[in-house]
Amino acid sequence: CGIVGYIGKKEATPILIEGLSKLEYRGYDSAGVCVYNQALNLMKAKGRLAILEEKVTNNPLKGCVGIGHTRWATHGEPSDENSHPHYNEDETIALVHNGIIENYLTIKEKLETKGYTFKSETDTEVAVQLIDYYYKEKNDLLDAVITAIEEIEGSYAFAILSVDEPDKVIAVRKDSPLIIGLGDGENYIASDIPAILKHTRDMYLLEDQEIAIVREGDITILNVNKESLQRDVYHVDWDI
Ligand code: GLU
Repeated sequence: CGIVGYIGKKEATPILIEGLSKLEYRGYDSAGVCVYNQALNLMKAKGRLAILEEKVTNNPLKGCVGIGHTRWATHGEPSDENSHPHYNEDETIALVHNGIIENYLTIKEKLETKGYTFKSETDTEVAVQLIDYYYKEKNDLLDAVITAIEEIEGSYAFAILSVDEPDKVIAVRKDSPLIIGLGDGENYIASDIPAILKHTRDMYLLEDQEIAIVREGDITILNVNKESLQRDVYHVDWDI
């Protein structure tokens, strides 16, 4: 239901959790964060954000790039395992998702015949495993994401983090909102403006089937043909 992402020089976890708290008003049943620091480290919990916060306080997740999520379950009951982020099997790619993947069963069955197994009952886990499948074929995260979204039907806002390309977060959306916040030597991703308004008032509003490659020092917006798109900065001049 809510997405926050960060890449920069600060500790990501507090920024992610604080951003998610600004999206609590939308309702959710569980929450989670994944932060990169040599490897991907993930923590998620059913229930209120405060439960996740306590877990993270007892077991800090260090790192300056990460993605976070509050979930409103559509496929699979609210549980720790069904919470986002979701991993591929070898835990080298993490993904958060807002929306519904309509053809997830077809994709799941296809991947099962290729030997994939699933830990959760969500439609979302199928997306990260499909990206993993194409990543193994193409060895390029962007190409893998583009090929996967061509196959995925339904609505999505995804933020994706990978061990092999930890200098970026890839964001893409269709029929579910996603914005990119412009910082100075740091950048943000969010499903809605209040999540990051404390940090920046300058945003790019992603449109359907657009992909943002968000790095610490720059943001590239592409269409599915990998053509780079020019976007005006949207300046937020109101307060929450
Ligand atoms: N369909 C996904 C799930 O049930 C995402 C739900 C959401 O937007 O929070 O896990």
